[in-house]
Amino acid sequence: MAERPQLELVVVGGGIIGLAVAWRARARGMEVTVLERDTAGAGTSHVAAGMLGPVAEVQFGEAGRRLLELGLRSAELWPSFASELEGDSGVDVGLMRTGTLLLARDADEARELERQLAFRGSLGLPIERLRPSEAREREPALAPTVRLALEAPDDHSVDPRLVLAALRAACLASGVKLREHALVARIELGGGRVTGLELAGGERLRAANVVLAAGPWSERIEGLPEGARVPVRPVKGQILRLRDREGPGLLRRVVRFEGGYVVPRADGRYVLGATVEERGFQALPTVGGVYELLRDASELVPGVSELEIEELSVGFRPGTPDNAPAIGPSSVQGLTWATGHYRNGILLAPLTAEMVVGLLAGGERASELLAACAPGRFAPREPGPPVEALG
Ligand SMILES: Cc1cc2nc3c(=O)[nH]c(=O)nc-3n(C[C@H](O)[C@H](O)[C@H](O)COP(=O)(O)OP(=O)(O)OC[C@H]3O[C@@H](n4cnc5c(N)ncnc54)[C@H](O)[C@@H]3O)c2cc1C
Repeated sequence: MAERPQLELVVVGGGIIGLAVAWRARARGMEVTVLERDTAGAGTSHVAAGMLGPVAEVQFGEAGRRLLELGLRSAELWPSFASELEGDSGVDVGLMRTGTLLLARDADEARELERQLAFRGSLGLPIERLRPSEAREREPALAPTVRLALEAPDDHSVDPRLVLAALRAACLASGVKLREHALVARIELGGGRVTGLELAGGERLRAANVVLAAGPWSERIEGLPEGARVPVRPVKGQILRLRDREGPGLLRRVVRFEGGYVVPRADGRYVLGATVEERGFQALPTVGGVYELLRDASELVPGVSELEIEELSVGFRPGTPDNAPAIGPSSVQGLTWATGHYRNGILLAPLTAEMVVGLLAGGERASELLAACAPGRFAPREPGPPVEALG
């Protein structure tokens, strides 16, 4: 019997990360196959709001700093990534460069925003303090009860559904092979390296290089030794899609507040999100979750109550133990991780694709960015030699 042909590069997962990697790898001349268990773009990325907000998202502490560095680098890449993608696909990806407002509605929240302002200032990030009247001049739909606002002028947004459609089209046009309804059950190893994959129906494929980009489901794929796995957990988010029959104009900027955000699209649609819940893959929305989102948003932007509800959905952010992504080689030769993007997978897609394709093409292997995302940081430590008691 003829031997099965060996695939040069297989990407497992056709979300924003897998498709971005595939598109960029193909542009570097690689033969790429994407295996997607559903249809491409049907996973978490389909649900995401699309904020590109490294400044609004920054967290205190060392892990927060590392994530900030990744976010700023990727935000810088977004305009050229978007225009190249639009050129290759003919699809407008809905990049809106209108900035973000962070809002406080009472004295406690205003104190917290002042603390956040000082923190971002200490990092040299672009952010401006606005009095309530200044904020309402910029966004007249804000309620008079807004106590304080910060403006992050460079935190923009994109429409992830358009990005996914564009990536799919660009991948297909450039010759990426996309196999949908192909669930990867197991990665096959031999001699410490990847040799192939087994699909759910039992079909086996030979492959020398695999990029694992299966989002929150990445941990379910079998066949990897303990030390080569990345622990990824699903973090549930409930999110609403709203529409203004009158067309655009209620908000121009993204507005963020304690517990949520409203992201405008150019056509009078709005995304109102999102809950953050540690409930495993519990897929149904809840009355409490939706009630809180609507209550908080309409308190700060009363016009939200007039909008029509088009969709209520639930997604699962792929979270790692430190909530930073796992991007880079595993201890198994031929296997590269590109997962764990948690709240920032849309923002980090251009940078992730660049890093992964750089690695596959044999480029930079020791950058600070790669060190910050090293999948090996989750490997169980080998017990060291016994330590002799001192004194
Ligand atoms: C409510 C919500 C709002 C968000 N808002 C934002 C935001 O504003 N900005 C931002 O940057 N990020 C946001 N995120 C986070 C972002 O959505 C994720 O980080 C990102 O979508 C992860 O992309 P991915 O390609 O890794 O995962 P996915 O999009 O889930 O793609 C993984 C794909 O792998 C497939 N798959 C899984 N298992 C297998 C298998 N065994 N074989 C084959 N295929 C498989 C799945 O079907 C899926 O299509 C949000 C997330 C949620 C839930």
